[in-house]
Amino acid sequence: MYRSLLLFSFFACSTSFAQNNDQTTIREIFNQALSRGESHNMLRELCVDIGPRLSGSPGAAAAVEWSRHKMNEYGFDSVWLQPVMVPHWVRGQQEIGRIVNSKKIGNKEVSITSLGGSIGTGPAGISASIIEVKNFDELKQLGAKVQGKIVFFNRPMDPTKINTFAAYGGAVDQRGNGAVEAAKLGAVAVLVRSMGTGIEPYPHTGGMRYVTGVKLIPGVAISTKDAELLSKLLKDEKDLQFYLETHCQILEDAPSFNVVGEIRGGEYKDEIIVVGGHLDSWDLAQGAHDDGAGCVQSIEVLRLLKSMGYKPKRTIRAVMFMNEENGLRGGTKYAELALQNKEKHIAAIESDRGGYTPRGFTMSGSENSKSIIKSWKPLFEPYDLWDFNQEGGGADIGPLISQGVFQIGYLPDSQRYFSIHHTPEDTFDKVDKRELELGSASMAALVYLIDRYGLK
Ligand SMILES: [Zn+2]
Repeated sequence: MYRSLLLFSFFACSTSFAQNNDQTTIREIFNQALSRGESHNMLRELCVDIGPRLSGSPGAAAAVEWSRHKMNEYGFDSVWLQPVMVPHWVRGQQEIGRIVNSKKIGNKEVSITSLGGSIGTGPAGISASIIEVKNFDELKQLGAKVQGKIVFFNRPMDPTKINTFAAYGGAVDQRGNGAVEAAKLGAVAVLVRSMGTGIEPYPHTGGMRYVTGVKLIPGVAISTKDAELLSKLLKDEKDLQFYLETHCQILEDAPSFNVVGEIRGGEYKDEIIVVGGHLDSWDLAQGAHDDGAGCVQSIEVLRLLKSMGYKPKRTIRAVMFMNEENGLRGGTKYAELALQNKEKHIAAIESDRGGYTPRGFTMSGSENSKSIIKSWKPLFEPYDLWDFNQEGGGADIGPLISQGVFQIGYLPDSQRYFSIHHTPEDTFDKVDKRELELGSASMAALVYLIDRYGLK
């Protein structure tokens, strides 16, 4: 009886010591991030000094150099580049979208933007009548009526969905596959309602794809405000004409790089924890939330732990992936090299949902690893992180799934992201310093716990 009591109190003591220790360390991570954080300054350099960073552009090349320099400056153990060939698409001069000769409003310019990866119309432009659909089923039912027309995909993101990423997922097929589906029926171009949550005057770009064997037709996005106007006009003017002129081009693939920085571990140095974001952005804006935030938060995770004098057991890596937006070549290359070099990644964390207030983490992989992370929930609750229940990881870390790598996505509040996503509005001033720093600290706290306890 006496002996077991003693044992009990010994274990009780050692458990609470560990918890106190973790609580204290995590408190210190947040203190550092909020009082002496560097993520906001880094984001200013990346977004304001460098600016847009579409794959293959001078901005993307400058961002690669900037990341390498930054991580060297912070004294990480190794910093290196992983060469990768990326698609090189250029927008060219400003697009023209015009409602022609409407009985109600005459000629009217509308706000459009080419979708990434699209071919252009060239200087001659395309003039055709418009046919509106909400989805691919409606399109198929129209059959031969689509021939020679511009198909207008106008299904909004569902505003009743609380998770805006789910609303995005429910609408983005129109942007990604609309041109292929419309071309199969003989359409000459597609006009896609922007993937935005609100009614806005500016369009949202984003990737689209072609498939071999189907004619390539131009794809553009129209602002949600002008989509509403066009739809209203089409109710009374079935043969409304539209003029479209775009100058984008698909060039030869270009050389680029992922940028990797690492702090080597001690006891289990061969076990790697990756934290990353994507360095490329669309050409229309500074890519502050998408995904400058994720990049600087990832660098900040390593910087914070290092500045606190923390000696990791495992190797911790920050990866700036190239080309998430229009090809995922960087993420694919990273996984390919990990396999080739027989690296053992125990977890991959991606931040690519904006630099907003933390809510939790999404997870994908073994149930055992999920329950280990969920058991740390009490350590995160003082910082308002509570959502550890959603499935998911990140696009760039996705290719590591085939190697069995546990996937984690940083999960911030999602309500504002899709009003700026892929638009000229995604700028540095839209990122709140504290929210960004809270995200960096949350990610650093999670990396610390995975490093300390592993996931098995
Ligand atoms: Zn992104």
